Amino acid sequence: MCRHLGYLGPAVPLAGLLADRPTGLLRQTWAPADMRGGGTVNADGFGVGWYTDDTSPPVRYRRAVPMWTDASFAAVAAATSSHAVLAAARSATVGMPVTETACAPFTEGRWLFSHNGVVTGWPGSVAGLAAALPTVDLITLDAPTDSALLWALVRHRLRAGASAEEALEAVAVEVGAVAPDSRLNLMLTDGVTLAATTWWHSLSVLRGPDSVVLASEPWDDDPQWTPVGDRALVVAELHPTPDVRVRPLGPRTAEKDPADDRLPA
Ligand code: GLN
Repeated sequence: MCRHLGYLGPAVPLAGLLADRPTGLLRQTWAPADMRGGGTVNADGFGVGWYTDDTSPPVRYRRAVPMWTDASFAAVAAATSSHAVLAAARSATVGMPVTETACAPFTEGRWLFSHNGVVTGWPGSVAGLAAALPTVDLITLDAPTDSALLWALVRHRLRAGASAEEALEAVAVEVGAVAPDSRLNLMLTDGVTLAATTWWHSLSVLRGPDSVVLASEPWDDDPQWTPVGDRALVVAELHPTPDVRVRPLGPRTAEKDPADDRLPA
């Protein structure tokens, strides 16, 4: 069911986030611990997006091969540092193509997006939602996959001015309504805000004094990793102070949501 990871914090080598961890994303490509019935390995490609400064679009690297086979990426990851990263390893859903452009992260401008899961009833279940998108968006999808369509739906809302939080929540709720039993763990960042949903799939948070990691699975057995409950929205920001908010997904009321919860520092 794919695995993904987002990081905000001091600049660190990509290898330190992905490869040099006992159960990090690299290891999760061949030995994931929590696939919840959706495949056994994540060997249908991978992608990494990282920011080089506060204004440029991120650099994105994608391949349709298992991460462990790409020795060139291992060298790049050891020599490249970033303060904001979104990475994913793919396990293609049956019937969906194994191709570089189907690998997350998907990107536009400063945005990076990943989907961990599956849209049930694809493609018919979401045809109505797709029909509301501009035709150009549909004929230029990165790939004919559920994840690429989810990105088009999220991107459409971002272009209209929605925040990361608003866009992820709206798309998870609307897709969940027409495709029940979907797995919709979404992750989105602009290098400043890191937002993610849990929708019938795993996600954990590791909060440091000046960093935040969101990952499908913990990269080690540090007891500081906190699992996120199901049907939740996580929003992490470092500025003005490190902050991680977790709240239930769904329409918000005018008052403060009583279930709104902040992870302890
Ligand atoms: N369904 C998506 C794809 O095939 C995501 C894969 C996954 O999470 N297993 O690309």
